Amino acid sequence: MGLLRTLKIRLGPAGIGGVNEAPKNLLMFSNLGLNAAEVAFTYSIYLNNQNAKRIGQIAKKLDVKLSIHAPYYVNLASEEEKKIEASKKRILDSCERAHFMEASPVVFHPAYFGKKQKQDVFDMTKEAMSEMNGFIKKKRWNTELAPEITGKHSALGSLEETIELVKETKSSICVDLAHLFARNRGAIDFAGTLDAIESLKFKYIHFHFSGINFTLKGEKNHVPMGQNPDFRPFAEELLKRKQNCTIISESPITWKDSLKMKEIFEELGYKI
Ligand SMILES: [Zn+2]
Repeated sequence: MGLLRTLKIRLGPAGIGGVNEAPKNLLMFSNLGLNAAEVAFTYSIYLNNQNAKRIGQIAKKLDVKLSIHAPYYVNLASEEEKKIEASKKRILDSCERAHFMEASPVVFHPAYFGKKQKQDVFDMTKEAMSEMNGFIKKKRWNTELAPEITGKHSALGSLEETIELVKETKSSICVDLAHLFARNRGAIDFAGTLDAIESLKFKYIHFHFSGINFTLKGEKNHVPMGQNPDFRPFAEELLKRKQNCTIISESPITWKDSLKMKEIFEELGYKI
């Protein structure tokens, strides 16, 4: 008999709503049987530390695991030094809220290539992330940085680049399967992707999943889950590997697609 491993898969949407709606929404997610949610600071860091702590405590009581998506306005390899500093501040402010919320990881899109050489952008991003990791450690914030696999070829964040960045900075990772699908112009190898990520030896992996429209340049926009890409073979692959993870739905119909994921897992014999 093999080693008995307990498998834990968590599902939930991106977005918990504003200060007033968040408690109600978290309760609704929990009542629906969902057990994860990503706080969307994508357009602004709309919680102060005190509210972050209060909402975090509610989520904890409901066993809804929180993560955070830092603002979109981030470029750790900008031409302008002050934009790099502003980017680091947005990510670190998100990390401070994450600490008070007991949320992890803090997901972000690290950098754009612009007119720079790919290697220069990678090095600048690595340096900025190492510095931020040092700051998080010094502050004793209990959270982790997670660069995301991005959807556009103009952004740093292919599977290979992200794995390398994570290895070199000892960070966490956010694997967005829709973004990979868009980057590969409508194809994805779930087994190969998971093989590559498993080389990082994480006990727990943070995923984003949704449907996606794309052009030759990559991601166009997120759409509800359907065939692009199909969720079922991904779910099968996770169960086969007994991979502990959180899967955040970034679909425009958020928690409804999380319920669809839950239904698929249950059809495959795993109860969320
Ligand atoms: Zn993202």
